[in-house]
This record gives sequence, C-alpha cells and structure tokens, in this order.
Amino acid sequence: MHPNRRPFLAGNWKMNLTVSRSVALAAELQRVLERLRAVDIGLFPTALALHAVATRLAGSRLLVGAQNVHGKGFGAFTGENSVDMLREAGATWCLVGHSERRHLFGETIADTGRKVLDLAAAGIRTILCVGETLQEREAGKTLAILEAQLRGGLAGHAPASPADLVIAYEPVWAIGTGHTASTAQVDEVHTWIRGWLRERFGAAAGDAIRIQYGGSVKPSNAPELLAVPDVDGALVGGAALDAESFVAIVKAAVPGN
Ligand code: PEP
Repeated sequence: MHPNRRPFLAGNWKMNLTVSRSVALAAELQRVLERLRAVDIGLFPTALALHAVATRLAGSRLLVGAQNVHGKGFGAFTGENSVDMLREAGATWCLVGHSERRHLFGETIADTGRKVLDLAAAGIRTILCVGETLQEREAGKTLAILEAQLRGGLAGHAPASPADLVIAYEPVWAIGTGHTASTAQVDEVHTWIRGWLRERFGAAAGDAIRIQYGGSVKPSNAPELLAVPDVDGALVGGAALDAESFVAIVKAAVPGN
C-alpha cells in the first residue's frame, strides 16, 4: 500500500445471501467497521438486496455497490438492471468485467467499455476487474490480456476524479480456488498496471487510481498481499461472506488495528 492512496476493501457477495441475510451481514459489519476511518469499505450484494442493504446503511461510511449492470435506459432486456435502477436502489459503485461475468456469461471487452461509460454518465463509480486465465498465464500472455482488458474497458473513459475508478487485478485461476497469486506475481502485475495507468491518464491521476488485488484473499494472506506497494486494497469473495474474516482482512489494511 502507498501512504497517499486510501485503501479500498470490497466484499463481493456474488449470488449468495438472501435479502434478510444480506441486511444482517451489512449491519454486523457496520457495527464493527464504521469506526475505521482510514479505509474505504464497499459491500456488493446481489441486485435484489441492494436497496435493503443501502437503506440499512444510510448515513454510514460503508459503501454499497452492484455486481453488474446492463446499461442505460429502460426497455426489453428481461432479467437485467439499468444504471438508473442501480442508482435509485442506492448503489454508488459497480463491479464491471468480473471474471465470472466474462467467462460464465460471455461478457466481452466491448461490453465492459460500454458499461463503464454508462455508469460514469449516471454518476456511479466503477471497479473494473481484469485478469488472465491459467492457460493465458502459462502461454506468457498475461500482460497482453490485461492490456486489452484495460484498453477496451476504459476506452473513452475520463473519470471525474481518480478516486472514482478502481482496477481490480483478479487472476482467474485464483478466484474461489484457494490458490492465491504469490506476492512476487502480484507485485509484477500491479507495477505494470500502475505504469499503464500513468501512461493512459497522466502521472498524477495514474498514481492516484487504486488497484485492488482479488483471488482467494483471506485473513492469513491479507497482510502480505496488502504490503505489496501497488496493492491498494482487495476485492474479496468467499471470505467476505463471513463477518469475522472480512473484518480481519479490512483491519490488515489499517495499521494499528
Ligand atoms: C471475487 O469474487 O472477486 C473473488 C476474488 O473471490 P474469492 O475471494 O472467493 O477468490
């Protein structure tokens, strides 16, 4: 972590937890985490629970975000949610391009770029997820894949502030598998992403945009991952469903806790 960048810890609850269980977990996390002022904390429940969680957290420092969006407007898109719907439900952030969206639901790089622009137009901030598969890593294509995902996902995007954009590096082979990337692998990729962001947005903005690591982060590995200089937080899946684990991961990002 870098002293000039505020850590951002996000919990992606994926397709887990009913509405009542989402509200209960949010309330428990708020009780313990509200006092931690040096860190941004985001909760990403299923879309169905967004409104209830955001209502429960009204006035809290904890941020609420969506896991996906279809795009702008209204219309014949059965099963989808628009940026306006997410905003009114209380989402101030949205994940885009999570590997499960890309690999299970066929989301393309062009889709991610369109979503980022639609979200920005609606005033919703983006966590853009990027990451390579094991096959791509073993073929030496990691940086080429990341470059394509970053270039396409951020095409034409000019965030109002660097704080409004977060990149989550999530190697596909580390998500939900228990296989965490080594600190050397994370360091190499995050340093490269930092360089890419500096070129794309200029040195000052590129230095200010936060880069999260995601992929089997848990209380036991969070301290070493968060100690990597260009790791500015974490996107946490499985371990975010358990209040004690998520709190321990958040505390690992706050010196003295
Ligand atoms: C994720 O869903 O973004 C994720 C990183 O999951 P996990 O922490 O379970 O690997």
